[in-house]
Amino acid sequence: MYPNYKEAVSADIFNYINKASAALALESYVIGGFVRDFFLDRKSGAKDIDILCIGNGIALAKKVASLLPQKPKVQVFKTYGTAMLRFGDLEVEFVGARKESYSENSRNPEVSAGTLQEDQNRRDFTINALAISLNESDFGTLLDPFDGMSDMEKGIIKTPSNPDITYSDDPLRMMRAIRFATQLNFTIEQNSLKAITKNASRLAIITRERIVEELHKILLSDKPSIGLRLLEETNLLEQILPELIALKGVEEEAGQTHKDNFYHTLEVVDNMAKVSDNLWLRWAALLHDIGKEPTKKFDKKLGWTFHGHEFKGSKMVYKIFKRLKMPLNEKMKYVQKIVLLSSRPVVLADAVTDSAIRRLIFDAGDDLDDLMLHCEADITTKNAKRFKKYHNNFKLVRQKIAEVEARDHIRNFQPPISGELIMQTFNLKPCREIGTLKEAIKEAILEGKIKNDYDEAYQFMLDKAASLSLKK
Ligand code: ATP
Ligand code: MG
Repeated sequence: MYPNYKEAVSADIFNYINKASAALALESYVIGGFVRDFFLDRKSGAKDIDILCIGNGIALAKKVASLLPQKPKVQVFKTYGTAMLRFGDLEVEFVGARKESYSENSRNPEVSAGTLQEDQNRRDFTINALAISLNESDFGTLLDPFDGMSDMEKGIIKTPSNPDITYSDDPLRMMRAIRFATQLNFTIEQNSLKAITKNASRLAIITRERIVEELHKILLSDKPSIGLRLLEETNLLEQILPELIALKGVEEEAGQTHKDNFYHTLEVVDNMAKVSDNLWLRWAALLHDIGKEPTKKFDKKLGWTFHGHEFKGSKMVYKIFKRLKMPLNEKMKYVQKIVLLSSRPVVLADAVTDSAIRRLIFDAGDDLDDLMLHCEADITTKNAKRFKKYHNNFKLVRQKIAEVEARDHIRNFQPPISGELIMQTFNLKPCREIGTLKEAIKEAILEGKIKNDYDEAYQFMLDKAASLSLKK
């Protein structure tokens, strides 16, 4: 009744699984993401293979490993009843078919052994329930009980059974639905979308790590705004990043309005996705304006202002990472830095001075190129003239950076005079004056009063020390 899908299972590994299954007299299937991604011609899923068998998955994995010439190690996950082995760059996971029943407060169901059909019933989406037989009698036959193939053609995310129950049982599926819609540029079917909105508050039972994992995948998609909009529409975003929801809306005062910084942010993230795969630069784009809500003021002379929003925003980055249980490491500091410096090149675009450029190079260090990418992605004006003007300004800033760099070598700036030298020269023990002198030398270099070299810095140090009444 189904066409032959042998091509999907033409790789060597499937023949070994076929033989191992026959030897153990059990049925096996390749199921889920691998099958979906094969038909969608997505390379990403092709390395991650899920094998379902009617029986003991761990035993099947061991049998396959024993037949393979490489005799790979089998990693057993007893709690889940699964096992994994590597074959070349493939990661093959084995599991016995099961059926599930859920309780109110957990996304982890009671499981018991089941049939293929029962296992397909518990899958999250029709396009994720596709299985291809690896059995002798019908090797390469597609088993598609929910017409996932047609949903794949139409580009639809749909649950195999009642969406209300599906999402309520395991609310992580709400995040997965939106993530797949974003990655595949698919539409979430209306009843599903309604059910997600209805069950949004059940996200509370999902660990933050799992939520962030999906968020990363959304951000790493070609057009992250698809997912971010869906998260907003379904009231999920409010629970994950309320700081972004706070940017929604336009206020008017004395006839003056400001832009809607939520939709602006979505555009910036999309712009960034076009030019960089760096997940953390995309996070910076997502969070670059979060300081605007708490700093927003209306001034009769200046209009709407957001003074210090970059500083405020960079502090908020820490709180968000902490709340979402994301690692508080150098990645977080990088996001903070981009947010903190996000307006600096903009200011420069109007009046470029060498010293301001030197300061920017010094403060941004190795992340300067990323910062410039961010600034360019931040241009979302619909006015073609302005769009061009802003881009040209940044071109000028980039040019100036290159010139100053070539001349002054400020990036990864190492002060030409060390603290030790200052201590030796003036016979000092650790004290405040050392810091004062070092800072004065750095300032003089960044201001362009002296060159970034030893001789000029040494002389400057002597002069400055004299003014502090330090003696050699
Ligand atoms: P990707 O590997 O890109 O994340 P995937 O669909 O392969 O996509 P996995 O998490 O690897 O996702 O899961 C493999 C399969 O297991 C899915 O295709 C789906 O059939 C099933 N699955 C995963 N998570 C769930 C879930 N929360 N509820 C129901 N079925 C799920
Ligand atoms: Mg997978």
